[in-house]
Amino acid sequence: MLTSGWKSVSMVDVHGKVTFTLWLCGCNLRCPFCHNWRIAEGLDCFPLDGEKLLDELESSKSLIDYFHITGGEPLMQWRELGALLAEVKILGVPVSLNTNLTIVNPLERLLKADLVDHIATDIKAPPVALYGLPEKASEGLWRLFLKGLKTVSEYGLQLELRIPVAKGFDAWPWVEEALRGIDTDFYIVLNPLVGKPLTNPRDEIWCSNHCWPSEEVEALREKLEGLGVEVYTNHLAEGPARQTGVP
Ligand code: SF4
Repeated sequence: MLTSGWKSVSMVDVHGKVTFTLWLCGCNLRCPFCHNWRIAEGLDCFPLDGEKLLDELESSKSLIDYFHITGGEPLMQWRELGALLAEVKILGVPVSLNTNLTIVNPLERLLKADLVDHIATDIKAPPVALYGLPEKASEGLWRLFLKGLKTVSEYGLQLELRIPVAKGFDAWPWVEEALRGIDTDFYIVLNPLVGKPLTNPRDEIWCSNHCWPSEEVEALREKLEGLGVEVYTNHLAEGPARQTGVP
């Protein structure tokens, strides 16, 4: 399994929780704002030393709420990930998976095997702008994402829904559609997209047009709170830490 590393104690990867966080390489999307694009493209990666990781995890387990896997898109390596999570479960550590929720059948296999306790994902909207892929592919991936939300609901897992908020787009129609498909406990974290010098986005020109939103953040918050949804906002100055590893 290819990784770019891990952090044995992190307080910025899952809202309000302490995690042991592992970054896995590869991704099926090309988000223009991605600041983990080197990991997503398999650069800066090396084979995971599973034994060493599990030793460190066992030492940290009394300090953490979750073993959190992020990337990149962890489900690109789902078979190897499943084998690792089986070992993690033997240690008795709850597992949180950060996924873009478009690789649905492998996800369902991991859920069916009871290897995941918490899911974090993004509502990337509009998908055709935020997935960084051609229109038809983006539409197909959005439908898979909706199926992924349904799958997570069927297994009753708690969901951290993040919304990467971009400048100049109305994300609401897609946010509403995503929320309609959720039937499990969830909360929302608004992540205003930040660019240079705080992060190193894949597409600097895109980011100079669409990072650093202003009124879009408050507009989304108001609409979500109007629906009675629990919402947290990461302030722009906190951007680079909080957005680490967002698939
Ligand atoms: S933001 Fe996430 S889903 Fe998008 S390219 Fe980067 S790692 Fe992949």
